[in-house]
Amino acid sequence: MEAMRTLLSKEGFVEVHTPRIIASATEGGAALFPVEYFEQEAFLAQSPQLYKEQLTLSLEKVFEIGPFFRAEESHTRRHVNEFISVDIEEAFATEEDVMNVLEKLIQHVCKAINERCRRELEILKHQVKVPEVPLERFTYKEILEELEGEKIHVPWGEDLPTQACRKLGSLHPNFYFIIEWPTESKTFYIKPRDDNPTLCEGFDLMWQWVEIASGGTRVHSKEFLIQRLKAQGLNPESFKYHLKAFDYGMPPHAGWAIGLDRLMMMLTGRKNIREVILFPRDRFRLTP
Ligand code: ATP
Repeated sequence: MEAMRTLLSKEGFVEVHTPRIIASATEGGAALFPVEYFEQEAFLAQSPQLYKEQLTLSLEKVFEIGPFFRAEESHTRRHVNEFISVDIEEAFATEEDVMNVLEKLIQHVCKAINERCRRELEILKHQVKVPEVPLERFTYKEILEELEGEKIHVPWGEDLPTQACRKLGSLHPNFYFIIEWPTESKTFYIKPRDDNPTLCEGFDLMWQWVEIASGGTRVHSKEFLIQRLKAQGLNPESFKYHLKAFDYGMPPHAGWAIGLDRLMMMLTGRKNIREVILFPRDRFRLTP
């Protein structure tokens, strides 16, 4: 975290804090924990997405490191219900600009771990390879074709199921980006490509079989964002405070979120996310 803070601050990002108690969902009602908030209904935030986008209006480059909450029931080795997210959002930037920041950050963190945590790595009997940048980039189409060659069929537009990710992990033992996702597979605020709107400017950063981060260029036109909300079956009225910020002139912007706990799994060579969290919270664990 210290290495991340140092690099992001050096790159001109301002550290911010957005609310953990929110009135409506970032991405429609799914996966939210409700909380009793006096006379009103409220939820625990699942991401700082909308707030960090709004902050690019005034601060241009922001980052946040903090816990977020997902009420998803999936009980896997890479999901917990409270996780630490490292988020950035940058004005006047595209997918490619923020991917550059991300790969620089990953490289910087791997170097810092090697320099400062030699003893810990010895105890863990684990080595951290410093990746060369730019990291490899594969399109979603290329990934689907590669999987097809391995007799794993993923229907176009769908997220990659665990079995497909496992196979990718054996084919790609390091970090790599998956780019050019179908627009329908990503959420409403990811910008469709100008040259082919069926594809979008969203990306995932993978490490072996695990998705470590995802991000992209955002939609910055208010009218188009309303259109995208409706297309995904969401009610623009629930997003009225977010949409209001656009009236002040939203700059084009892009950003990403890394799951710190998933990155820690990679850095320590652990196979289960619970091993790198002091007090994990999952579907069946609420104490200690
Ligand atoms: P997944 O498809 O693996 O469930 P997601 O697409 O829901 O992840 P995003 O909403 O894009 O994830 O969140 C960005 C990053 O936050 C992910 O790449 C991951 O590193 C981390 N993250 C998201 N949900 C969880 C979770 N339940 N537990 C741990 N980390 C998570």
